[in-house]
Amino acid sequence: KKIVFSAIKPSGEITLGNYLGALKNWIGLQDEYECFYCIADLHAITVRQEPKDLRRRVLEILAIYIAAGLNHEKSTLFVQSHVPAHSEASWLLTCTANMGELSRMTQYKDKTAKLKENTSISAGLFNYPVLMAADILIYNTNLVPVGVDQKQHVELARDIAQRFNSSYSDTFVLPEAKVSESAAKIMDLQDPTKKMSKSDDNENSYILLLDPPAVIRRKISRAVTDSVGVVNYTDEQPGVKNLINIVCAIQGIKPEAVVAQFEGKGYKDFKEFVAEVIIGELEPVQIKVKELLENKEALAAIYREGAQKASRVATRTLRKMQKKIGLLPLE
Ligand code: ATP
Ligand code: MG
Repeated sequence: KKIVFSAIKPSGEITLGNYLGALKNWIGLQDEYECFYCIADLHAITVRQEPKDLRRRVLEILAIYIAAGLNHEKSTLFVQSHVPAHSEASWLLTCTANMGELSRMTQYKDKTAKLKENTSISAGLFNYPVLMAADILIYNTNLVPVGVDQKQHVELARDIAQRFNSSYSDTFVLPEAKVSESAAKIMDLQDPTKKMSKSDDNENSYILLLDPPAVIRRKISRAVTDSVGVVNYTDEQPGVKNLINIVCAIQGIKPEAVVAQFEGKGYKDFKEFVAEVIIGELEPVQIKVKELLENKEALAAIYREGAQKASRVATRTLRKMQKKIGLLPLE
């Protein structure tokens, strides 16, 4: 079986972008592939997190994974910091990566540009793609299902793997990004030229997976559109285009079908429809999340088992790396 690895970081509450661009696509891979789905807490702390929020979110994300359809008996569901091999491999790969390639990462440039002047930027934010390369490579991953914003990082992981392989000897499988067509990039509701992000300061810019129906209706009704007033699927109307993409990603239909449905109708009708489509998709997941969070012990049993399964594979790769580099084995 080919191997799949992916993760979401608990840097904020899970958004509709995370759900449609990543999580929803993970579900269908579980039968065909051996899947490792991680909660990337070590990535979240590249920017400062409130400790109690971080702890709560990790458990919440695990519940969301399961409620959305990930099955812990088929896939390995685990928390990144529970598997120390991620951090250890990350250091070894830090010595394989170079400053130049890390400086070219657009996520680093975007995230640091957003920080206010005089706020210090953690070295972790700069090194983030190396830890992500470690995440991917220690499972011998073939495919990494992500949104298009993470494609560059997966390509870097591949470059680092290739470099390690040629400076020592064949060690890593070369991973590839797998980007879903319709939901590759869900845009910010307030500024449809940038992607929706869970760490955005403006809560009207995103829909959260756990937003109640009334909040979803309100946020969609406030979503920025344009003065054209006609539902078209075009780059000239990025706000409307984004709402159409959301519907298509949920219903698995083509943009033309949505456009045809709203011929002669205005944005108010269209937005009400979009809100109901989103609510219809998220409500059943929300109900399950609530149920799952009532039994914290059952969730703990799942992440403990996940950490064990993940560690077995990850440690094997780590030992191989250490040996090739020339680190003296303890036993
Ligand atoms: P942050 O703003 O803290 O980086 P994020 O919303 O970008 O948060 P991540 O944890 O970085 O979330 O990404 C998790 C997964 O969700 C990745 O596969 C990423 O490509 C995908 N993703 C994130 N935002 C979007 C989006 N707007 N549309 C589609 N996929 C997305
Ligand atoms: Mg991100």
